[in-house]
Amino acid sequence: MQEYVTDAIVLSIHSRGEADRVVDCYTKQLGRIEARMIGGRKPLSKLSPHCVPGGFVTIRLVEKNQFTLIDALQPPPFRRLTPASLRTIALVRALTPKGVPDNRLWETLKQSLEEAKGDAGTLFRILGYDTASASCEACGDTPVSLFSVSHHEFFCDRCGARLSEGDIVYCS
Ligand SMILES: [Zn+2]
Repeated sequence: MQEYVTDAIVLSIHSRGEADRVVDCYTKQLGRIEARMIGGRKPLSKLSPHCVPGGFVTIRLVEKNQFTLIDALQPPPFRRLTPASLRTIALVRALTPKGVPDNRLWETLKQSLEEAKGDAGTLFRILGYDTASASCEACGDTPVSLFSVSHHEFFCDRCGARLSEGDIVYCS
């Protein structure tokens, strides 16, 4: 059984079974992982309050077949989560594979949340998307101005107007 202590940014959290939760997070040391939070749905869970989407936490994990969260410490929280911060979180959730640490991605993600601004251009570059040479998925026009999280595709201004606001990440 391996134990890890690493900084992490929470991407999402969902229920599993009667009592547990699963936290999906991007960690500095391990990249994106899912960790089980035993008893996370109980009202007195000591871990749950620290694990909110966009939250920055130091976590202790054990790995034995799967990751289990055993402790979460919260440094001073990010000042505020803006719509841009939430879109950054959505982008990382949509595009990063699990279990692949990437220090550049970690630093960019952390910095964009700390500064409460979206830095989608840099994130796209790190994740291997070339926004400069992409063309609109619907009409073929360039330049593209936004990315649809649910479609995993780029669109121009005009075609992107049909998408819902919550699904959009602006390219710059
Ligand atoms: Zn278009």
